[in-house]
Amino acid sequence: MSERCFNCFKPTSACLCKYTQKLDTGIKFIFLMHPKEFKRQRTGTGNLSHISLKDSEIIVGLDFSKNEYFQNLLNDSKYFPVLMYPGEDALNAKSENFTQILGEKTLLVIILDATWFCAKKMIEHNPFLLNLPKLSFYGDYRSIFTFKHEPKPECVSTIESCYYLIKELQSVNLVDKNLNPEPLMNVFKQMIKLQLQAENERILGIRPNTHNYDGKYKKLKNIPDFINKV
Ligand SMILES: [Zn+2]
Repeated sequence: MSERCFNCFKPTSACLCKYTQKLDTGIKFIFLMHPKEFKRQRTGTGNLSHISLKDSEIIVGLDFSKNEYFQNLLNDSKYFPVLMYPGEDALNAKSENFTQILGEKTLLVIILDATWFCAKKMIEHNPFLLNLPKLSFYGDYRSIFTFKHEPKPECVSTIESCYYLIKELQSVNLVDKNLNPEPLMNVFKQMIKLQLQAENERILGIRPNTHNYDGKYKKLKNIPDFINKV
């Protein structure tokens, strides 16, 4: 086992922390993770988002209705909690009166850091989450890359969700327009690049301590230009 960065959990040789910047968005972000997913996905984009966003936290659990800390946040009158979730009834940055609804409150954005399938399971275990106002995008986005084969093409990663949400809120002046959200996308591209390079090294047999016996690592991955340039 190679040494790992204590922050991004990547092997120290592939540590992504140097590409991250702590963005002060004025929004509080909460990433909810399933304990099983936490172990598997702690190297995922939820953790990278947490590293990149100043006022953000990861809460790991199964039944969040019993999480006192989380419940206190939801009931704290200084916050306006919203669940990032699609739906006809979902608000978006351009919804009529959104600024008025928000008032002086700080937006508390709750993101289920999971695959679409797992997110549905999390909702089944925590139906109270659907009682929160939902927030979605007014734009239509595709992930620049998917490692997991999500059943829905519109599933964007957690870090991309944060990126697009910040941009949409900037478009209506709910987040400072001088804030540059690009570090979020850049670190995501770096992550993809390192992952594709690692796969290619495995295929070429030049990666130490790995064997190319896994059938899925046969074809060299093309690293797209827009990622290579980062
Ligand atoms: Zn790191």
